Amino acid sequence: MITFEDLPVIAAFASVPTGEMARLAEASGDVRLCAGDYAVHEGDERSLFVVIGGSIEVTKVIDGIERVIGRRAPGQIFGEVPITFGTPFQGSYRATEPTRVMHISARQFHSLAAAHPAVLTQVAAMGAERIGGLKGIATAPTKARAVMLAHPWDNSARELRTFLSRNQISHDWVVPDAPDRATRWVGPSLADNELPALICDDGTLLTRACSRDVATHLGLQTQPRGAEYDTVIIGGGPAGLAAAVYGASEGLRTLVIEREAPGGQAETSSRIENYLGFPTGVSGEELARRALQQANRLGAEVMVTRTALGIDPAAKVVTIDGGESVRARSIILATGVSWRRLSMPGFDRLLGKGVFYGASRSEAGTTQGQDIHLIGAGNSAGQAAMFFANHARSVTIVVRGDSLEKSMSHYLIEQIRGKPNIQVALHSEVQALHGEKLLEAIDLVDRATGTARRTASGSVFVFIGADAETGWMPEAVVRDQRGYVCTGEAAARSGRWQIDRDPYLLETSVPGIFACGDVRSSLVKRVAAAVGEGSMAIAFVHQYLAYAANSKAR
Ligand SMILES: Cc1cc2nc3c(=O)[nH]c(=O)nc-3n(C[C@H](O)[C@H](O)[C@H](O)COP(=O)(O)OP(=O)(O)OC[C@H]3O[C@@H](n4cnc5c(N)ncnc54)[C@H](O)[C@@H]3O)c2cc1C
Repeated sequence: MITFEDLPVIAAFASVPTGEMARLAEASGDVRLCAGDYAVHEGDERSLFVVIGGSIEVTKVIDGIERVIGRRAPGQIFGEVPITFGTPFQGSYRATEPTRVMHISARQFHSLAAAHPAVLTQVAAMGAERIGGLKGIATAPTKARAVMLAHPWDNSARELRTFLSRNQISHDWVVPDAPDRATRWVGPSLADNELPALICDDGTLLTRACSRDVATHLGLQTQPRGAEYDTVIIGGGPAGLAAAVYGASEGLRTLVIEREAPGGQAETSSRIENYLGFPTGVSGEELARRALQQANRLGAEVMVTRTALGIDPAAKVVTIDGGESVRARSIILATGVSWRRLSMPGFDRLLGKGVFYGASRSEAGTTQGQDIHLIGAGNSAGQAAMFFANHARSVTIVVRGDSLEKSMSHYLIEQIRGKPNIQVALHSEVQALHGEKLLEAIDLVDRATGTARRTASGSVFVFIGADAETGWMPEAVVRDQRGYVCTGEAAARSGRWQIDRDPYLLETSVPGIFACGDVRSSLVKRVAAAVGEGSMAIAFVHQYLAYAANSKAR
């Protein structure tokens, strides 16, 4: 308990008589922090703190990077902005050394302020001053962390840009013939075969840059820090990130192996309308950004640009590309699904040059003012149509069947009907793609009449469904006919299950290896289901580790 004697001089409370200050101290929370512990996180509900001893630094994630934006010493308060303006905390407050803070709830503060209005005046003045500083931080022009020199038709450049966006790295993209190239690209002149090139914020110039090199130079984790983990999660989509958040928060040494960038398919979704808690919808990018921050903050390692290539089911060793391996006490498969491939004349040649699988928000700029086509009749195509309709001149959804109703959610069909620049071409199929360096036109066939017509197209986005890519997993992990991983009862029935207990709900046919999200054999393929299963998987990991420890002891 905090006593009056513990308190330093607190300028903000100078008008409060000693007796009342003593009562406030005794009734307030006594929070003791080790170096690195947080008193409060960005987004937490309002309350007020006073530093009694030690030191606090204020951090804020700006442009994907955590920055220190202030400090608090003994006698200083924090929380003046939330308590004055009724907002959540705009930054996080972390101890830099063993620190003691007094926690005053909003209710306590407001009854104190009612009795001593000078306290409110003081704290409000501090809050107003701080909000000015926060405004300055928010409006300061952000310096791009990387500058890329690349042709618009270069597929590897497009992949790199997607990779940078998905890892929340701000970048400036300069095309070689840009009129302002000399001011934006400070590197040397480079031949086409050296592009895409990238100058990272540490000054390194990367030519023919690949995502792994870029990740390394921009400080993303590409190597495991340890040799053994309590749980290794393969895949960093919603399921994998949820497992990482729960695993790390429950004290498990947790590693995520992600072959591209965190976010998975959800990252390509322009607006997820049905995820609980976001009444106006949330973009997959935003959801992924928040989840990654949460996983990192709680101490999970998220390793990007690394692909799991094999698992030794008995030893629980995961082999990663490049021949490296990590040992795990448990493994969670969260590898989701990958877009189904399409084959037609011109497709492979123009892939990335106006023709894309799925859609990412970073593509919006390239569709500006164009007539574009989306192939597919599911929700992914519908969402993308709504998103691109704000950028492209016209969007045509090319559908083989006779209606959208069978495959697309009702709310999306209604939204599409309300957008005058979206058309739906039913009974239609794209038969060929044309263009030299970039896509220029497509052949569209009316399946009812068999007639084909050539029409100009700036971009084609393909959404024809997805499959689980599980061929690399060991045979012992039983999959259904479509390649999805069997768990629980299905794993028990597979004939491979060999121990004297039933598999847990999300456990595969190998004890201690779990599967969650889209890769799991189940009818539900949704963000909420992936997140729920990712978190549940951790509960089963705990049960498995306890079971394994007991079996060893016996
Ligand atoms: C365009 C679009 C819109 C959508 N809209 C909605 C919506 O509105 N509402 C909704 O509920 N759902 C929506 N979905 C579905 C939702 O995104 C998925 O159900 C969800 O992302 C599944 O999460 P997951 O983590 O299981 O798999 P994924 O999101 O597929 O993530 C799997 C991750 O594993 C990685 N990976 C795969 N193999 C390996 C390997 N061997 N090594 C390392 N990493 C690997 C992948 O790179 C990927 O990042 C949409 C999907 C798309 C494509």
